[in-house]
Amino acid sequence: MSTRRKSIVAGNWKMNLDAAKARSLTEAVAARAAEAGSVDLVLCPPALYATTVAAALGLAAGGSPSGVALGGQNAHDKESGAFTGEVAPGMLRDIGSRYCILGHSERRTLFGETDSVVNAKVKAVLAAGLTPIVCVGESLAERESGRTEAVVTEQVLGSLAGIPADDLATIVVAYEPVWAIGTGKVATPQQAQDVHALVRALLARLSSPTVADTIRIQYGGSVKPDNAAELAACPDIDGALVGGASLKADDFLAIAKAFG
Ligand code: PEP
Repeated sequence: MSTRRKSIVAGNWKMNLDAAKARSLTEAVAARAAEAGSVDLVLCPPALYATTVAAALGLAAGGSPSGVALGGQNAHDKESGAFTGEVAPGMLRDIGSRYCILGHSERRTLFGETDSVVNAKVKAVLAAGLTPIVCVGESLAERESGRTEAVVTEQVLGSLAGIPADDLATIVVAYEPVWAIGTGKVATPQQAQDVHALVRALLARLSSPTVADTIRIQYGGSVKPDNAAELAACPDIDGALVGGASLKADDFLAIAKAFG
């Protein structure tokens, strides 16, 4: 973690919880957010529960904001139209979201999202005034065949093509090795740091070293309270994108604290 960048820890709830559990988890995180210190906290619930979470975070009209931000897990690249089942970036913004995860490996592998699809979504989310959290990461086969650098390079350059430096300066990138997501196999701090340094060099190529130095890069993949501190100690790891452990307030806050 750099002293130049404020850490950001986001919870990706995926397709979990029900409305009552979403509300109580949000309330528990919001009530104890101060424990995380100076870390940006983001909750990314299933789209159907986003308004419930927004209300519990005090983001609804007349509410008193808790300081914890709301994010989407995905968005369409169009503003509106005949796209059954989809959510527009402006809709996320409308209910108080500030962030949106894009290009998560589950979207890439299960829903066929290519770098060019992710790139269109990044542009649409930026145009709606949201901060994209852009996910990249190699599979186990790609790592074992020595292709990590090539795969991550292609994903970063493809997903962020044509984004002006001013906009790039506002985004968040999440490095999530696919083999570490939901498997309990966390990357070693050195493995993670090496790829984070590569991502930052690529961001410098797309903008400038000065801009790249301000961009926050999260690590994601089986982050837990007991491995967060060693990841947080790495110079280019500026927070975490947390799946499973974000479903428990204690674990999520303990991880955030490690980055505080
Ligand atoms: C994720 O899905 O973004 C993730 C990192 O999941 P987990 O923490 O469960 O590995």
